[in-house]
Amino acid sequence: MTTAVVVGAGPNGLAAAVHLARHGVEVRVLEARDTVGGGARSGELTLPGLIHDHCSATHPFGVGSPFWEEIDLAGHGLVWKWPEIDCAHPLDDGTAGVLHRSIEATAAGMGPDGTRWRRAFGDLAAGFDQLAEEFFRPIIHVPRHPIRLAAFGPRALLPASVLARWFRTERARALFAGASAHMFTRLDRPLTAAMGLMFIAGGHRYGWPVAEGGTGSITRALAAALRAHGGTVTTGVSVAARADIPDADVVLLDLTPAAALKIYGDAMPARVRRSYRRFRHGSSAFKVDFAVEGHIPWTNPDCARAGTVHLGGTFAETADTERQRAQGKMAPRPFVLVGQQYLADPSRSSGNVNPIWAYAHVPFGYTGDATAAVVGQIERFAPGFRDRVIATVSTGTAELAAYNPNYVGGDILGGANDGLQVILRPRLAVNPYATGVPGVYLCSQSTPPGPGIHGLCGYQAAASALRWLRITPARSPDRRR
Ligand SMILES: Cc1cc2nc3c(=O)[nH]c(=O)nc-3n(C[C@H](O)[C@H](O)[C@H](O)COP(=O)(O)OP(=O)(O)OC[C@H]3O[C@@H](n4cnc5c(N)ncnc54)[C@H](O)[C@@H]3O)c2cc1C
Repeated sequence: MTTAVVVGAGPNGLAAAVHLARHGVEVRVLEARDTVGGGARSGELTLPGLIHDHCSATHPFGVGSPFWEEIDLAGHGLVWKWPEIDCAHPLDDGTAGVLHRSIEATAAGMGPDGTRWRRAFGDLAAGFDQLAEEFFRPIIHVPRHPIRLAAFGPRALLPASVLARWFRTERARALFAGASAHMFTRLDRPLTAAMGLMFIAGGHRYGWPVAEGGTGSITRALAAALRAHGGTVTTGVSVAARADIPDADVVLLDLTPAAALKIYGDAMPARVRRSYRRFRHGSSAFKVDFAVEGHIPWTNPDCARAGTVHLGGTFAETADTERQRAQGKMAPRPFVLVGQQYLADPSRSSGNVNPIWAYAHVPFGYTGDATAAVVGQIERFAPGFRDRVIATVSTGTAELAAYNPNYVGGDILGGANDGLQVILRPRLAVNPYATGVPGVYLCSQSTPPGPGIHGLCGYQAAASALRWLRITPARSPDRRR
């Protein structure tokens, strides 16, 4: 029987494992921690009975992932839950940019920018599935929807700061800034508009849902799918060298390029070694989880109904803090993301006490304590928040790296999202998953299409491995579209 070993049971490692197992490959997954999940885990953190997402929280690209649908994660227990409002971005004057799943409802809240909002996102939302087919694959590919891509390209290539000028109201500009800031780079850089456009178009197509019971439900469903296809997971095994990997026909690494280099460097061609050494990290986060009595007392009432709240002030302020962060400076009022997953999924709360998830964008490897900055940003838009907090757990960049070795310097996105690295992860190659070692592939978020709980890095790396094994994939997950 053909055999595979997957190192790392994050969403991409598990996705790769499931794809191989469904094609008759005998798969064994080795995971360093004592549970599966990587950046898709959840559990108690602040107080007993409260379920917090340890890392990822909101899944606009997960709910629409064709791979999740094809392997029937719903059949393995995954249930999506939508908040009433997908995302809100409050301003100091008490107003907010508000993202509803309905483009009409969103446009209605944009005042004079309503028509502009419809024009900017209407076609992208309508054609989102086709666009996603192009966006969520390696940059070097033959487009299946060239007309859709041609319409998206000119907007996507722009810096978010240029595209934002299209809007007249600060509400629309700020909402776009928060979505674009998910790119984790300066908003005056080319291609940053692409992220904002995709996050918002994805929101209008699928919403920004959470997983019932916590994000860990996604990877538990993946592990169940793997078991159903005969695959196994061994936890508590940290792979440091090739000797730790059992013999197999193919090996997939849910790891950073640096970790792959450590294990297989001596067998890699020099050009791959050079590229992996040059690969940069940079998207560091400082996470703070709270147990809050009742709800956050937002000044803007829509924020109290939103699953995700972006705290960055105006477009100019958000752009400025992201610029400072990229230059290695800790902004006193950093860009902060707040998750109120319990609004969509009350099973995470305990009585009147609710779990709140938050993180700030901080400079790479930041060693300070950003807890006060995160609390300050929430308090700015929700005076009285501090008095409702009954427990706080802060996780700095070093703790994130200790939690998961893939989070180098607290980089939660598996690599800096700037320069050419945005589109050429982890290196310029026709097959970016290949490590140059026959049968060994990188399948983590450091490969295309990059971060997010969509499983598509793992799926595409596994597809490469299947081609190398001369096993023809049963069908492509894109065909439903
Ligand atoms: C604070 C935070 C917030 C986030 N928010 C979101 C969000 O809201 N939405 C979203 O879509 N994404 C979010 N993300 C990003 C998301 O979590 C990642 O994109 C995703 O987890 C990447 O999956 P992966 O499988 O590539 O790697 P990982 O999730 O990093 O999994 C890698 C696995 O490999 C294991 N491992 C590492 N080294 C070894 C070794 N040597 N031997 C054995 N096992 C090893 C690790 O323990 C881990 O389980 C967030 C991440 C963080 C940290």
